[in-house]
Amino acid sequence: MLYYIKKSIILALLISICIGVSAQDSSIVIKTGHIDSSSLFKLVYVPFEIPAGITKIQVKEFYNESGNPDKNVLNMGIYDPRGYTPGNPEGFRGWSGGAKKEFFIQADQASTGYIPGKIQAGLWNILIYPSTIIPAGMDWKLEIKLISGKENSIFRVSPTPEFINNKPGWYRGDLHTHTLNSDGKRTQQELIDEAKEKHLDYIVSTEHNTNSANLSWGRYNTENLLIINGEEVTSTEYGHWNAIGLNADTYIDWRFTPEQNRIGQMISKVHHDGGLSVINHPFFNVKYINSFYYDADLFDCIEVWNGTWNGLNNLALEWWDKQLRMGKKKIAIGASDTHKKTGSPNNLGIPQTVVYASGLSKKAIINGIRQGKVYVTSLDGIDLDLSVATKDKNAGLGDTLLLSEGQNFNVLLKLKNCPNAIITLHSDSGLIKSYTVKTSNESMNWKLSGSAYRYLRVEVRTSKGDLLAFTNPVWLRNK
Ligand SMILES: [Zn+2]
Ligand SMILES: [Zn+2]
Repeated sequence: MLYYIKKSIILALLISICIGVSAQDSSIVIKTGHIDSSSLFKLVYVPFEIPAGITKIQVKEFYNESGNPDKNVLNMGIYDPRGYTPGNPEGFRGWSGGAKKEFFIQADQASTGYIPGKIQAGLWNILIYPSTIIPAGMDWKLEIKLISGKENSIFRVSPTPEFINNKPGWYRGDLHTHTLNSDGKRTQQELIDEAKEKHLDYIVSTEHNTNSANLSWGRYNTENLLIINGEEVTSTEYGHWNAIGLNADTYIDWRFTPEQNRIGQMISKVHHDGGLSVINHPFFNVKYINSFYYDADLFDCIEVWNGTWNGLNNLALEWWDKQLRMGKKKIAIGASDTHKKTGSPNNLGIPQTVVYASGLSKKAIINGIRQGKVYVTSLDGIDLDLSVATKDKNAGLGDTLLLSEGQNFNVLLKLKNCPNAIITLHSDSGLIKSYTVKTSNESMNWKLSGSAYRYLRVEVRTSKGDLLAFTNPVWLRNK
């Protein structure tokens, strides 16, 4: 804690002025300071006192954005008197990153990204965090309006239902979505409507550094669409990861460096809720070979495919395969990372993660992913089933087939609605088979033998090499 407090004092000269505005019901607190260019990515906490009787706060942020070609971006969030220290964010009341320059909080409602509820008297802290900064640095100002009056009824958490059915089958969904609760452009209702239009079975809500959407999904008519709570734990400096399968009121703190060794604890919190951790778009920043700086071994899954297929995704696919060859059983998933309906390479459902699950529920979908019963595709209509079999045993995606030394086995692949695609079969020793699909409904049966392979997996590509689908492995092991 001291580290951050000292930093905030060093980084910013804070000036606090309290001005009485209208006669009886509001006052404005002004805080100002300067952050120099050497302080990129530093956390600056701006404390201010709220007296008793305040029922609403409004915060406006001002800073010199301009710069050519770079510009300043100052992220923003807020903590109430229950606590703001990293790892103990009981007072967390919302985050808008660089997506908003003003917000409000009151008992019954708040700006998207923020948590409604009582405005407690005491010491609050606004966190500001520069994620890009020009050489001249930035001058910032916070205008905090404190308003008293009659308190509205307190907001009630309305979590999403976690169960829809217990019918075993393949379920299609999008594991990475944003709305106005972070930097997305859709409302929660618009995201639900589009997911239904696209016949998705589930979506995971993953706003940057806030659980505000998770607190209210239960207010919407989702019918047969399963919403799973999540959070995109977002450090611009060290990488993004998704916590999926959270309880509505769980908040995962993003404010850790890799050296602090706290990510394992954060992932334990996700596991405690029955969820999984996913390394997101690990090659997102082209300036780095791998812009994910946390210990990859701690995570359950890798988002190998983010949005429209491109070369960065190919790097992620190769990186994942390298992990498998090293014996690390990471689950590969894909997701759109959608922020808006049109004009983006990140369209909802492209790609989608198709999971074999014992039903459509949070528990079953997360279990299916955890077990690797997963393939990823950009095509709504594709059906894909990979299995390996001996005379008396069969193993599907995520399963392990036990073989005797040198025993023969068959690799069975069924593929629907993907004509002209090129299928490749891969193992830990590289490419084994290649085949061009001719009809819209094909079954392949390859005979292999021996104990040379530890896993087998399939990729489906266009003739140009763009990925259309890929599976997680079926595992092989000697008896
Ligand atoms: Zn991200
Ligand atoms: Zn995202």
